[in-house]
Amino acid sequence: MRFNWEFPPDYYSKSQNILETSLSQVAAYRPWRAYDPGQEHPIDVRYEAMPAFHKTEIRKNSPQGLVPAGRDVRRGLESGEIALASTSGSSDISVTNIWNQEWWDASERASWKLNSYASAIATGDHPEAILANPLNVGFVSDMVDLPMEKRRLSRFLYLNEKTNPATWSSELMDRMIGELDIFKPAVLEANPSFLAKLCRYAADRKRKVFQPGLIVFTYEYPTKLHYQQIRQVFDVPTASSYGTTETGYVFMQCEEGKFHQNSEFCRVDFQPLKSEHGGPFVGRILVTTFNNPWYYMVRFDTRDLVRVDEEGKCPCGRNSGFILSAIEGRTISNTLTCEGRLVTLRELDDALSVLNGIDEYRLEQVSGKTYDLHLVSRRSDKARLTEEASEVLKELYGEEARLSVIYEDALSPEDSGKYSMAKALFPIDIEKYLDERYISKGVD
Ligand SMILES: [Zn+2]
Repeated sequence: MRFNWEFPPDYYSKSQNILETSLSQVAAYRPWRAYDPGQEHPIDVRYEAMPAFHKTEIRKNSPQGLVPAGRDVRRGLESGEIALASTSGSSDISVTNIWNQEWWDASERASWKLNSYASAIATGDHPEAILANPLNVGFVSDMVDLPMEKRRLSRFLYLNEKTNPATWSSELMDRMIGELDIFKPAVLEANPSFLAKLCRYAADRKRKVFQPGLIVFTYEYPTKLHYQQIRQVFDVPTASSYGTTETGYVFMQCEEGKFHQNSEFCRVDFQPLKSEHGGPFVGRILVTTFNNPWYYMVRFDTRDLVRVDEEGKCPCGRNSGFILSAIEGRTISNTLTCEGRLVTLRELDDALSVLNGIDEYRLEQVSGKTYDLHLVSRRSDKARLTEEASEVLKELYGEEARLSVIYEDALSPEDSGKYSMAKALFPIDIEKYLDERYISKGVD
């Protein structure tokens, strides 16, 4: 699907170079030559003719099959130019990515330009506190508390070394609040579930918390519930940064709340869903990275859905690349109505946001018409809350939905380190929901 986006002057030459180098010199993409309609066609048409690249192919080809001929991964590792970074967790496909720190930092710096607060505050040597799962970033230490100096790395302070926030003690959360006061970060980068948990604690005890210049959300989709809880404690700008380990920084939320493509560092191709499932403005993105000589990601399926901005412009005036009105959530967070319509995490989250007194939620679709809603709530009228939640879910999923509301003391993250807010316990193949007019048939 094509939109009339404007791109930087070298966007198309970069797109062409990456595609042609990949087809001719990068082993993983050589089979794709069969799909290339040829150099006489516009570059967008050539990209559209190519398949999507999935994590399973990274696993098959990494590392040497993802760098151009003439670049030796072993030498790059020896010289320290690159490293290998493995992702794990049984809920996800584990892969080994080639990590190029210099490129990663440059991709991040370019993304800051897309938000006025970030571009004013983020100098590249600004102090930054990170509240995330140490399985994703930082240092893991579940048994022993690490002192502050053991959680420092260059300009960063990792506020948390525990893999499960459900086990956080009051002392640990007091320590985090205390360290924000000592460290005074310009930017607080946070997994929204983790920060929401700390904010519930701080709000309950009416604790005053140091206010950074900007809060950047990464790792997870920030829900309306997260925002409500975080705003009880922080009165500062927030921005959601969207990217992946494979692709670097892909979209950054601007001060007006829309998302802008980091078009100096990546190409984005958009495949809309069928209209009955939310298309043509909601769809899947495939990301091609620019400027990284060590790792060629072409049409990488990040397994996220986005909503393209219908107006195609933003009050902030930035007009380089795709503009999104929202990220819709991970494809593994999709569920189906009783009639089989696709429901994104954002749609579910919008529906659930009318409920009061919820600390945490996770919706699991057990089968076609059976849904379990796990709730953490301190409301005493649980029977009433169950009725309210059932009403909301029937409205969304259908009158014939069989619903159970299950109360928990706390929810825990998945073994990937991130929380699951919604999931179906059976596979939903996103390709079946995409508008087939925009999908090439793909290899294998
Ligand atoms: Zn904007």
